[in-house]
Order: sequence, then C-alpha cells, then structure tokens
Amino acid sequence: MDLAPDYSIPQRCFPVVAGDRLKGDFAIPVIDPSTEEQVSEVVEADAAVVDLAVKTARQTFQSGAWSRASVEKRAAVLNQIADKLEAHADELAWLECRNIGSPLTQCRSRHVTRAILNFRFFAEYISQSGGDSFTQQPNILTVVTREPVGVAALIGPWNAPIALTTMKMASAIAFGNSCVVKPSEYSPLSVGRVVELIEETELPAGVINLVNGRGAVTGAALSSHPDIDVLSFTGGTVAGKIIMQAAGANLVPVTLELGGKSANIIFDDADFDRALDGAVLSIFANNGQQCLAGSRILLQEGIAERFFEEFAARARALKIGDPLAPDTEVGPLANKQHFDRVLSYADTAREEGAKILAGGRKAEGFERGYYFEPTVVVASSNKMKVCQEEIFGPFATLETFRTEEEAFAIANDTNFGLNAYVWTQSVERTLAAHRQLQAGVVNVNSPIVRELRAPFGGFKDSGVGREGGKACEDFYTEQKTTTFSTSDNPLHRMGIGAAE
Ligand code: NAD
Repeated sequence: MDLAPDYSIPQRCFPVVAGDRLKGDFAIPVIDPSTEEQVSEVVEADAAVVDLAVKTARQTFQSGAWSRASVEKRAAVLNQIADKLEAHADELAWLECRNIGSPLTQCRSRHVTRAILNFRFFAEYISQSGGDSFTQQPNILTVVTREPVGVAALIGPWNAPIALTTMKMASAIAFGNSCVVKPSEYSPLSVGRVVELIEETELPAGVINLVNGRGAVTGAALSSHPDIDVLSFTGGTVAGKIIMQAAGANLVPVTLELGGKSANIIFDDADFDRALDGAVLSIFANNGQQCLAGSRILLQEGIAERFFEEFAARARALKIGDPLAPDTEVGPLANKQHFDRVLSYADTAREEGAKILAGGRKAEGFERGYYFEPTVVVASSNKMKVCQEEIFGPFATLETFRTEEEAFAIANDTNFGLNAYVWTQSVERTLAAHRQLQAGVVNVNSPIVRELRAPFGGFKDSGVGREGGKACEDFYTEQKTTTFSTSDNPLHRMGIGAAE
C-alpha cells in the first residue's frame, strides 16, 4: 500500500440532491485526527435542504425508475457499485484513514472490503428472495408480495462510516427504495466519495441523496421529517432515543444499532493463547472504537493472574503511530471531543480505585494528534463506571469470577446487550452461554464475526430491530397480502329482501 498516494480530499463536502451539489450558509471543519489539521469542511444541510432531499427521494421513488426496475437490473447496478468501490478501494481506505484515524491496513482489509460486500450481498439476496403463497382454504389463493417502503432516512456514525453506512444504503436501495443518507459530521469523506462513485453507475439520480451536518440540525430535520417511511440509525444510545421519539411522532419505524459494553468471558479451560489473541483484537482493533468491542474482559480465577500480565504486556507492545503507516496497530482517536472523553475515563478509573496495568494517558512522542495509550485496568466491581459506561476507545477492564453462574450474571449486569464473547472448551458451557447471555450476538471461541445473512442488533439499550439479509428485507419492504377467489365461491348475498 502506498503511503503517499496521489489521492485528494475535497475542499468542501456538499449536500448532494439528485446529483446537484447544494450550497449552505454554515460549514463545519473536518479534521485529520493524526495531525489535528483541517482537511476539508462540511457544508451543513439545514431543514430546507433536508426537505428538498426528502422530496427528491420521494419523486424519484414515485417515478418508478428504480422502484419498479426489474430485480435483474437492480442486482446488476448493485454489482456495478461494488465494482466501482473495488476499483477505488485503496483511495476509499485512505480517505477513511485520514478522516477517522483507524489504521490504513484495517480500513482497507476490513472497512472497505465490507462496504464492497454489502452491495454484492444484497445483489445476490434480492435475486433469491421471493414471496409466499397459501392454498389451505379451498378455492382461495392467497399471495404475499413485497413492495419497497418508499423513502428511507439513513443516519450513520463516525467510527466505521463506510462499512456501516453502506450497509444501510445497499439494503435500502436493493429493495427499490430511495434514500437520504446522513453521515456523521465528523466523518463525511468516505461516504461522500462513495456517493460520487455511484454517480458513475446506472443508478438513477435521486435514488441516493446525501445530507451532511450536525445531529441536532441535519439529523433532527431528517428524523422528524413527516415524509420519510423508515429510519435506520447507527450511533449512540442517547441520540438513538431522541431519534426514535422524533420518528415515532410520525409513526415511522426505526432500526437502532446503538452502543455496547460487551463482556468477553474467558474460562479456565479455554485455549489460553487464542483467547488472549481474541481479547486483544476485540478491544484494540479500530482503535477500540467499535460497538462490538469486548471491553469488559471477565476471567476465571485460575487463569486471571497470568492473563492480567500477558494481556497488559500485549497492550503495552501495540504499535501506536501514524495510521497511514503499514505497521501501525493503533492510531489516534477520531476527534478531540472523543479523545477528551476517553481520557477522562482514565481519571475516573483512578478515582474509583481501579488498578491501571497499562496506558491511561495521552500517548507520548506525538506533538500533534489524538493519540491515547491502549489502556488496561483491573476493576474490583462490575458496578464501577468504567465497567458500566461505554468508553468506546482502546480501554479494557479486567474482572474475575469463580463460577459459570457468576460469569453470566456479571456479563448481563449492564444496560447494554449488543454482543458477548465466550472462550471455553466445554460444549455444555457454550450452550449455557448461548441460552443465558442477554446479547444480540454471541461469539464462541471467536473474535468478531459479522455474518450478513444473520440478524445483527442488540438487546436492551443496544438497539431496536436488526440488520442482515432477511431483517433488512422485512424493514425495507411492505408486505401485501392479496387473496384470489379461484372459483365462483358461494357469496352471502345481502340487500335482496327478507333476511334468511
Ligand atoms: P452519535 O450518536 O453521536 O452520532 C451518530 C449519528 O447520529 C451522527 O450522524 C450524528 O450526527 C447523528 N445524530 C446525533 N444526534 C442526533 C439527533 N438528535 N438527531 C438526529 N441525528 C443525530 O454516535 P457516534 O458518536 O457517531 O458513534 C458512536 C456510537 O455509535 C457508539 O455508542 C457506538 O457504540 C455506536 N455504534 C453502534 C453500532 C452498532 O451497530 N450497534 C455500530 C457503530 C457504532
């Protein structure tokens, strides 16, 4: 991978409505978190621009140019988009890296690869999916068909914008909908370029419209817009609740992919080395800024001391550096506000009396950039704030347990319920974990695996609804039941004289 490629960052990220770049009165700087320098600016879409984007999406939907296009056509265009992203994969990874500070290697191998897959996956999915029919009632044929819902509002986060926002875009348009996409105001670059690349495909203009801006302005205008049909959101739990209320006022269904504080449970009988590797990956990949992070590591007493030592040593040995460098394992946190927040949890840990085994400070040796040392703390109680609140950085808490019951009780002692990890050689225990853990996804003897065919989403404060093949089909389509009389069935006749 080229460290100094000839890619460019647009000076301004404009709202894009049916292919037109729109002006705005207010701009927000876009900062490279590794240098703290402004690299672009977001032209904020106000309520009027959001309204125009929604109206355009509606008109495009009603035109039928895409909503009534054949499945073959839609699948072919989704594959064209995937091809485009593939051809520009290095550039997209570079933009993502410059914008959010995740190591370039991870942006390329994970985020962009996933974005390409999102389009290919839904191209294949729509080619295979069909309706239902029921024939149990004599002389009646009942057929269940699906139609696109209409206009989808798609609001994305900054931690993995291209991977997560294209999941929404691919699934919404695959089923024939039009959409208005709002990336995070911190991370507009990769999704903006995706929208540009899509303009070079045969997707009709106006199917995907882009609005950038702050949550309280652009996001609020979009989520409260009376003419959206569904809203899909990935982000924090606080914003998720506000958005659900706004959409709920118009009876707009939502999916909310929210925060997590996932337990990573390691039993004495686990394959220690694999569990250690998995734990390091689960909390430190993507600079720890992942909803699926295994941020609470629970250790059975027999292996706890050894794990504390080896895990802390691995955290200290992680290569912190310029996210563009090929050997960097942990880059800067994505923005200043977030850096201050994560740093404040190191103080919280100290105030709570947690023992800091590694990190807990701004990383040394960097004059500029939001670099934070990978941090490992031993918590004496799961009630500590550092065990209950989502920190969303390279920050692991270690806790110990004696029994299986205790492990599952600690794991479930949280408002969140996105996912959980379990490491053990016991089949019975993996089955018990599967039954007892309150989480939307359970990873057994494995770090994060995202199976797009399966539903993904959270219990409790981690979300509402699911994303995935069938889950997206259910969300982005309306089902219609039509009954056909297959013969001249006797009718009860009314209005012909004396009642029978
Ligand atoms: P955030 O909630 O601050 O922002 C997410 C998006 O919502 C942004 O586009 C933002 O502008 C918008 N927004 C904020 N307030 C809004 C409002 N009042 N109305 C409408 N839109 C609003 O989240 P973030 O900081 O960008 O992302 C980090 C959070 O996302 C973490 O909690 C993380 O766990 C979560 N996340 C969850 C998943 C998942 O799949 N469950 C994946 C990634 C991130």
